[in-house]
Amino acid sequence: MSEKRDYYEVLGVSKNADEAEIKKAYRKLALKYHPDKNPGDAEAEEKFKEAAEAYEVLSDPQKKSQYDQFGHAGVGGGGFGAGGMNMEDIFSQFGDIFGSAFGGSFGGSRGGPRVTRGTNLRVKMKLTLKEIAEGVHKKIKVNKLVNADGVSYKDCPTCNGTGRITRVSQTFLGAMQTQSTCNVCRGAGKSIDQKPPEANEQGLVRKEEIIEVDIPPGVMDGIQLSVTGKGNAGPFDGVPGDLIVVIEEIPDEDLKRDGDNLHFEAYINFVDAVMGSSIEIPTVTGKAKIKVEPGTQSGKVLRLKGKGLPSLHGYGNGDLFVHINVWTPKKVSKEERELLEKLRESENFQPQPDETDKNFFQRMKDMF
Ligand SMILES: [Zn+2]
Repeated sequence: MSEKRDYYEVLGVSKNADEAEIKKAYRKLALKYHPDKNPGDAEAEEKFKEAAEAYEVLSDPQKKSQYDQFGHAGVGGGGFGAGGMNMEDIFSQFGDIFGSAFGGSFGGSRGGPRVTRGTNLRVKMKLTLKEIAEGVHKKIKVNKLVNADGVSYKDCPTCNGTGRITRVSQTFLGAMQTQSTCNVCRGAGKSIDQKPPEANEQGLVRKEEIIEVDIPPGVMDGIQLSVTGKGNAGPFDGVPGDLIVVIEEIPDEDLKRDGDNLHFEAYINFVDAVMGSSIEIPTVTGKAKIKVEPGTQSGKVLRLKGKGLPSLHGYGNGDLFVHINVWTPKKVSKEERELLEKLRESENFQPQPDETDKNFFQRMKDMF
């Protein structure tokens, strides 16, 4: 497939659309492109899936905010996201979207009972600035619900395996049939036949599992990445939920982050400021040497282009700003005092700031 379309564009709604508008727009598209209405039409099927994926993200407040902030990278890149929904997933949503009456006629034509979905798992992940800069492959140990060995299923006795209960009521127009989701199996149409004693009533047990994830470069504190299908197993042989990875940034001792840019406070001695020097500074991935020009004023900011963090959106790298501070000694020896006394009266040592020496705040002030 070519470039992914904007989810709002797919559904034809504005970014300010509320839950009801999003649902309404999706319902319209789902009806238009439904495979039953467009048999053998691959383009309609593609549009049907595209709309379902957009709805899957925009109807979930958490995924929506991730998408609003980071676009497809927030919910799609690096093995994360809503992509890869199959028809079964899509039809399993339908009961919620069209109501139980509609869910009956739609889901019913697709093999009846609806597929249950497992709950999401959330884990926190602490990352250093270096890991954030380069992206990182991590193994996460999770304790999740999985299908127990030796579980077997039978048709739900309440709904006879259909997942739905049909009620007939008499009205002045005649007999009316209404369908609702079976409240015993919650629409799955199954119940447990046999299970080992350690499994819960849904046939699930807790198990430790190692999950490998690729964290894309440029993530930030608080961002949530979802790994599709790595959450808790769905009851009655359903589809698993997602694993939600919440990023926590470990503050760096030297480098302060501001979006994709980094800042470093460098302290140089007075003599280096006067005569010029080369100093070593930390970067996210190691160290760099930078040149301090002779006659450098305290407060000067040196900009190292591209030495910041990579943009999560793929817009290149931020910059590293090195703030030069000239260190004033707090104590001096007798010999130093004599040398400095000689310099005190020197004409060169009298402050004579010109335009270029004005500090940042002065320049900001000049702009207004
Ligand atoms: Zn049932």
